[in-house]
Amino acid sequence: MTNAGGAPAARSARTARATLRVPAIVLRRSDFRESSRIVTCLSREHGRLTGLAKGAHRPDSPFLGRLDFLNEVNATFSADRGGLRLLERADLVRERRALREPLRFLAASHLAQLSEFALPEDRADPAVFDLLQGGLNLIERCPPAAIGHIVLGLELRHLQVIGAMPDLDHCTQCGMPLQAAAFRHDETPGLMCRDHASLPLQPIRAEVLALLRLLLGTPGRLWPELVPPVAARIAAHLPAHWLAVATEQRPRLRPLLFARC
Ligand SMILES: [Zn+2]
Repeated sequence: MTNAGGAPAARSARTARATLRVPAIVLRRSDFRESSRIVTCLSREHGRLTGLAKGAHRPDSPFLGRLDFLNEVNATFSADRGGLRLLERADLVRERRALREPLRFLAASHLAQLSEFALPEDRADPAVFDLLQGGLNLIERCPPAAIGHIVLGLELRHLQVIGAMPDLDHCTQCGMPLQAAAFRHDETPGLMCRDHASLPLQPIRAEVLALLRLLLGTPGRLWPELVPPVAARIAAHLPAHWLAVATEQRPRLRPLLFARC
């Protein structure tokens, strides 16, 4: 977690008094009174920021068309004067029209939700922001058949960023290298060798482990061209378990997504 510039409390008090102009990704919008909107963005340096966009629904509003879900904007937020900031300005940097296609939209929404789980209000982590931004770029452009394993790859990177990615190469009990035979257990994220696997045995299919290792060992920009050794939905249960343990939340879009990948 970013903690430059002093203790988090002092830093967040200082941040609250400042006007912020930041690159940000639009995560959520809701209507406020007749013509305004409350907008939540993820920013790289300040984490989640929420502001009131006054008059955003008016036909002549400068916000018109800029605050769509997952758009990238340069956002100017007023200082926080006891409650809510004003979103004073939003300059459009990037629209993500390709994400309106249903499967891409589902994948992108799931990734956005993971970022939210990782970053409660007042917490910033540039690595989480960068991963969401890079992940959206991939999901926007990849062949449709690659969406499933790309989302899996992004989930593994996400687990790495939040420090919750288990070792796929060694037994969590004895540290011996895991070759073809590896076992999982519902109680722990770590994998186990045959000697340390708990009963009932839950062996992991070799192709599943191969896909996860392949994704971890391949730079993200090359994921679209990967030929996965097994369908993403078959491998999806392991990262599901790790994400549930790490976030204590159940990503609600995930089952819908992997039913189709
Ligand atoms: Zn072992």
